Amino acid sequence: MGFAVRVLLQFVRRHSTLEKIRNIGIIAHIDAGKTTTTERMLYYAGKTNRIGNVDHGDTITDFLPQERSRGITIQSAAISFDWRNRGKINLIDTPGHADFSFEVIRALKVLDGCVTIFDAVAGVEAQTEKVWKMSQKIPKICFINKMDREGAGFSRTVKEIIMKLNTRVALVNIPYFSLDPQTKEQTFEGVIDVINKKLIKWNMDDPDSVNVVDIDPIKDSTLYNQLFKARESLIETLSEFDDNLVEIFLEDANGDYLELSSSVINKTLRNLTLNNDIAPILCGASFKNIGVQPLLDAVVDYLPSPIETRLPDINKKDYVMKFDHSKGLMINNNGSMSVSLAFKVITDPIRGLMVFVRVYSGTLKNGYNVFNTTTKRPFKIGKLVRMNADVPEEINHLNTGEIGVLTGSSINGNVSTGDTIISHSIKKDGLKSFKKNEEL
Ligand code: GDP
Repeated sequence: MGFAVRVLLQFVRRHSTLEKIRNIGIIAHIDAGKTTTTERMLYYAGKTNRIGNVDHGDTITDFLPQERSRGITIQSAAISFDWRNRGKINLIDTPGHADFSFEVIRALKVLDGCVTIFDAVAGVEAQTEKVWKMSQKIPKICFINKMDREGAGFSRTVKEIIMKLNTRVALVNIPYFSLDPQTKEQTFEGVIDVINKKLIKWNMDDPDSVNVVDIDPIKDSTLYNQLFKARESLIETLSEFDDNLVEIFLEDANGDYLELSSSVINKTLRNLTLNNDIAPILCGASFKNIGVQPLLDAVVDYLPSPIETRLPDINKKDYVMKFDHSKGLMINNNGSMSVSLAFKVITDPIRGLMVFVRVYSGTLKNGYNVFNTTTKRPFKIGKLVRMNADVPEEINHLNTGEIGVLTGSSINGNVSTGDTIISHSIKKDGLKSFKKNEEL
């Protein structure tokens, strides 16, 4: 194989791996269900074989004993998992408690996208509003949780999202309630998938049972009408931003809202979400195992990969940091440099010091000498691990866009939260412009 072909293949391979990565965080007011939803995500991704329960204090993400007893998430942990071979999700668990908003700001820096969870009874709460505004530039998906609760209001919460968070929205799915013919009682059982035109039902006693069916226009005329109206409003909203969609709609779908293909809708919605024009909305009840798989699909479908992230250029006095879609972050146009940000440092009782980093460009390798721009000192990377749910897996390198952990004695005293770590060669490049305490 020729050199040029090899380089091209390498580029394509690296690109397709990067395209699958989603560095996301979950933001929510305390008690909206962030921990429960995370637990269910891990379960459906095959990372745990049981359903954790925050009320019994046995969840994976709240891993500090202190957190278990207080029932709140204090530390941000980063956990990685694959979703049906479609996406490699790195979930950075941002704290939901008002007292820890400095932690939230720090965590937001390393996210490419966010899932915002709402309690369908409480609607948009103060903390969510605050964090939403702090994360203005990050594309977001909304998950209206706890739809099973008495007093849950889907439309009310959607209206609040539009008004209080000042955003346009797209309803990806809407709630489905079964009706008991005798008592006339309604039970939240699933969702109507507006884009794929399906009814998805869950059996809450069996977390693995999910039933996906077509909606029959004759037998299920009420549901069919709901689907039609929801699609009509979704396509109209998307068309306001995208003239092409109007043309495709009139030509391919003959003006029928049910005919437009789901791939066309998804592509348009993805672009608008990445541009921060629209926030897709889904609903569910994670405690009852309802709606979590579509939420994971939406993370892959609508949130950006590290190469699509829209971080602005950073102009400093002596250097410019720019995002390049194939190389990642470049300093003064130097694409060969490795740049990472340490966004979280914790001391684990078993593993000792753990420094969570996001690689913005280049590669971090085991045993490499790197340079801390804050301390202005070099140090050696000892052990490099990736958190597989809560199990650390030793790895040799971390690539652009990835999130991992530095551990081992060599990092003691060498890295703190907020430090930028660069490949040692930067010093030789004569770039002495990183000032003390300067963060990315
Ligand atoms: P966090 O503070 O946002 O992490 O919220 P938790 O996941 O700890 O959930 C807070 C409480 O809400 C717990 O008692 C959960 O059992 C409950 N909860 C979470 N999701 C749901 C849901 O979908 N329906 C209902 N009814 N309760 C839920």
